[in-house]
Order: sequence, then structure tokens, then C-alpha cells
Amino acid sequence: MSEGALVLFSGGQDSTTCLAWALERFATVETVGFDYRQRHAVELECRAPVRQALGGMNPAWARRLGADHLLDLSVLGRISDTALTSGAEITLTQAGLPSTFVPGRNILFFTLAAAIAYRRGLRHIVGGMCETDFSGYPDCRDDTVKALQATLNLGMDARFVLHTPLMWIDKAATWRLAEELGGGALADLIRDATHSCYLGDRSHRHDWGYGCGTCPACALRAAGYRRYRAP
Ligand code: ZN
Repeated sequence: MSEGALVLFSGGQDSTTCLAWALERFATVETVGFDYRQRHAVELECRAPVRQALGGMNPAWARRLGADHLLDLSVLGRISDTALTSGAEITLTQAGLPSTFVPGRNILFFTLAAAIAYRRGLRHIVGGMCETDFSGYPDCRDDTVKALQATLNLGMDARFVLHTPLMWIDKAATWRLAEELGGGALADLIRDATHSCYLGDRSHRHDWGYGCGTCPACALRAAGYRRYRAP
């Protein structure tokens, strides 16, 4: 409990749940976000209000919530040609991967997060990667994260612990985890204030939150919410 954590915090459902999870466990919790010119850059605008709301929800969380870091990763948008960083159609590529896959993204995210954690003296790094119910991204796999932990610790002569609390649970269980951590208030905050839609749509409101309602991120979020709310 005396140790510090850095949470990869995008402003989405998964990373907000991870942030609450970390606030419950660590004495100091800082956050890092990345602007890689994502099509749904609106998620970045959700970060500050969500952080503020989490602090307002629980006095202990407010005490533990530390600095926020926002890194400009526009280079990632420039070197990748994906449906998440351009107007390209969201489909399956010839390699059998979703066209929203941004090669190297999570590897870069963890590497830069570790560089910040090194400077800030934070031992734990938390990310919302998930293998269950996931989008088919190879850099969300448990093996990728475990290999990265070994690489970062060797390469920085450090003892970072990479945590992925959502790795083996599905989207419905992610909603339930949020409710366990912060009650219905946290589940409601995540529904109303976090962003998942790949198209960046915050003009259409559904029972599961804002989004276009049809992209893969919306479909996953909607299906998970319905299973979570089902009797
Ligand atoms: Zn959508």
C-alpha cells in the first residue's frame, strides 16, 4: 500500500476501471495518456473530468490521486495507416487483424510509461489490456505484457510490476468490477463520462453511454453492459 502506481489512462471504460482499481490499492496513483492523433481524440477530453469525478467520489482516492501526464505521440499517427489513426474503413485486414490495430501501440505506451515511472519512483504500471472478449490485438495478450515486463526490467535495471486487472474478465465483468470498487456511482460515471467509440461519436446517447452504436468498440461496450444489467 505504500507503493506508487502509474495507470495508462485513456479516458475509456477499461482504463477508468483500472484507475479505480489502482486507487483502491496504492498509496500514490499517477496517470498517463497518449495523444497519437487517434480518430476518437475526444476520449482525451474525458480524462480530466473523469479523474476529478473519481477524486470526488471517495476521499481516500482523492488523497492518492497524483499527477497526470499527457504525451504527444503524433509520430505514431504519422507512421501507421490504420482505421484508428485515419478515416479508413473499420474491417478485417488481410493479416486477419482488425484494421483498428495500431502496430506497436501498447509496446510504446508501456515503454514510455516505464520511463515516466522510473523518473517518478513508481513501481507499479497498470494497463487495461484484456485477452477475454478482446478485439484481437496481439499487443493486448498476456504473453506480450509479461515479455514487456521482463524487457523493461532488464533494460532499465528496475523491478516494475505490470498489472492488467482486466486480462481474464469480459466486458460484463469489467462493469461488475467497477461496481465492486465504487458502487453504482462509479458504474454510472463510467457509463456517462468515459468514451469507447472508435468514431469519436458523443452525440448519440444509449443505455450504455455515448457512441455511434455500430463500430466494434460500441458493439463490445453495449453487449457487455446488457449482460451486466441482465437479471
Ligand atoms: Zn462507435
